Amino acid sequence: MQSVGVLALQGGVAEHTAILRNLSFNVIEIRTPDALDSISALVLPGGESTTLLFLMKRWGLTKPIQRMGKNGFPIFGTCAGAVLLSSSISEMEHEVKQESLRLADVKAIRNYFGRQTRSFIENLSIKGLTDTFKGVFIRAPLLQPLSEGVDVLSSVDDGPVLVRQDNLWLSSFHPELTSDDRLHRLFLERSGLLGMEE
Ligand code: GLN
Repeated sequence: MQSVGVLALQGGVAEHTAILRNLSFNVIEIRTPDALDSISALVLPGGESTTLLFLMKRWGLTKPIQRMGKNGFPIFGTCAGAVLLSSSISEMEHEVKQESLRLADVKAIRNYFGRQTRSFIENLSIKGLTDTFKGVFIRAPLLQPLSEGVDVLSSVDDGPVLVRQDNLWLSSFHPELTSDDRLHRLFLERSGLLGMEE
């Protein structure tokens, strides 16, 4: 059985874990660098990107994950996880100096879709999926491509919300908060860990 890691420092860990287990993967909760050795893909969940980065640094996870991402290792970042993967981060009204893993050529504009109370669900058309997908947006970022290598797989009103750069997948919404596993499956299929279905 193949193993998928879920960064388990903060945020939506249990929900990703449940979906991946249902897809028959062994899930390893990642809290220390040695846990990274036995996985074939990694999920960075939503939560709070500043807190996540602080904790990742503290546990020595930043450099090994950066190295893996640069070497083609499949990583899927959702919401705060997508912010972490982006090479540039800004807030809606002002530029911020927030650190990140700087792996994908993407500018993440944090909290673009409004505050927690303005959370919403949108039926998204996603490249690679036949039917629409319910995207759950909670203080979600916009994900602007900064290079041609970034493929936009879904948008809301022309604003990119799901992008892929080779081995790196970034979604501003939370695919783990619905019972729909198609986006996890798509990521795992395209990463060569599941047989193709669609
Ligand atoms: N706005 C949060 C951040 O930038 C992300 C929110 C979320 O993951 N739901 O860290």
